[in-house]
Formats: sequence, structure tokens, C-alpha cells
Amino acid sequence: MSPGSRRVGNLIATNAAALNARAAIPFPKRRVSRTIALRELELLEAAYPLAATALEYTSPFTLLIAVILSAQCTDARVNQTTPHLFAAYPTPETLGSAQQSNVEQVVKSCGFFRMKAKNIIAAAHAIATRYGGEVPREREALQALPGVGRKTANVVLSVAFEEAALAVDTHVFRVAHRLGLTLGKTPRDVEDDVSQLVPREKLRHAHHWLILHGRAICKAPVPLCERCPVNELCPTAPLVARAHETRLKKARLKKARLKKAGSGQARQGAPDAAIPRRRRSP
Ligand code: SF4
Repeated sequence: MSPGSRRVGNLIATNAAALNARAAIPFPKRRVSRTIALRELELLEAAYPLAATALEYTSPFTLLIAVILSAQCTDARVNQTTPHLFAAYPTPETLGSAQQSNVEQVVKSCGFFRMKAKNIIAAAHAIATRYGGEVPREREALQALPGVGRKTANVVLSVAFEEAALAVDTHVFRVAHRLGLTLGKTPRDVEDDVSQLVPREKLRHAHHWLILHGRAICKAPVPLCERCPVNELCPTAPLVARAHETRLKKARLKKARLKKAGSGQARQGAPDAAIPRRRRSP
């Protein structure tokens, strides 16, 4: 491959990647009917029958701390960190009285480590001093703990205490919109809309159906609709197909333009190649 054509190839690849990255698929403007929504959720349930949290934990306390650490961090990274953390600070009492700088060192790789260390120490201290070392089961009490918002409280309620609660993170928000289950502007809106569709006894699992689907198939920014079990019902699937066609069309046009420009340059360079080499003097 000549340097010129390699450069053209690189440019096309770069542009395709950039287009993909920019291609925000618009959310549907209308919700699907209740019948379709229920069928979509049924199919997701069938696709992820063993859905569960990927965070490793041994008690409501270790789950709560893992969920606080998982903000803006992968579950895998948190799972690498928590064994060290709980080996050093196994109880709310020990973590609640730990030196912040020492905890920071342990949770450093989870990002935002100063704030997270501060919050998990303060939450552990509150659990130790206000709740006798037991994580409270009430939403209000949970949300009053440092570093615990509605999403974290919902994870603890649904996973540790098996309560009917739906935690809305970025995957749940996106997938629920793409499936037309909600038009909600906030995580709370999405939580309310989806909660009305899922039977109460299944609500604590719905978060995992949506989150696993968002991670594996319905990815941002490019969902893998051709592999999706809900494809036939999903109002976003045609929008994704259209966006894909537009991307291909743009990439083809770009390639043709670059090819044309490349052959023009070659033509301009041709006379130089025709200049006879000067003969060496004998
Ligand atoms: S069809 Fe596509 S957009 Fe719809 S849920 Fe499946 S992957 Fe997501």
C-alpha cells in the first residue's frame, strides 16, 4: 500500500470512528403502548434470566460501600478494590474511625477517591453510631447517609433487602428511553414510568435486565440492534438503521472525494516524473 492510499484509509477510518462517536441516536418521541412495553420487558427478562449485580458483596454494609465506590467506575475495578478495603476495615466501626488518607490510598483506583473515601468513612460512622452497625432498611434513612442518593439507596433496597425498587443509572435511563418505556427527563421520571409497567415482585430484577442489555447490546452510542431480542418491537431500531445508512453514505462520499483528490495530485505530480534525469558526467 502506498503512503498516499494508507493516509486516505486512515482518514476514512478516523472519520467513521468520529461519526460513530458523534452519532447520538435520538430517543423516540412517543411511548410504546402498554402491551408492547410489557412484551419488551418479558423478552428482556427471558434474555437475562440470571441477572444480578456484578458487584461482589457479603452483607448490606459491604454492598453499600461497593455501590458508593462504583460511581463513575467499573464494577470490575470496585471488585478489585473492596477485598483490600474490607480486609483492613471489616466493619462500620473500623471503617468509620479510619484515617481518611489511609482509606484514600486503598480506593485510589476507583476515581474521585478523596470524595469517595470521605463519604464511605462518614457513612460507616453514621451506621456504627446511629444504627448500631446495621445498614438501615428505610429509604429516608439510607438517603440521609453521606454519599447515598436515590440510585444507591434503590440498589441497596433491591439487592440487599429484596425490596421492590428500581435503580436508574445511565444504562437504565438510555435503554428505557430507546424501548419507548418512558419519555422522562430525569432518572426519577424514568423510575416512576418503568415501575408502573413491571409487576411489583419483579421490579427489583428489572434494573438488571435493563443494565445488562445496555452493557451488552443496547450500547451507547451505537446499539447492536441486529443482535437484539427486542428489535421487532423497539421504536429506536428504525432510527438506528437510518443513522447507520447515513453514516455509510457519508463515509462512501468522503472516500470518493479523497480518491478524486488523490488522483488529481498524482496527475499534477506527473510532469516531475517525466523530467529526464541529468546524466552523470563520465
Ligand atoms: S433494538 Fe436496538 S435500540 Fe432497541 S433495545 Fe435493541 S439494541 Fe437497543
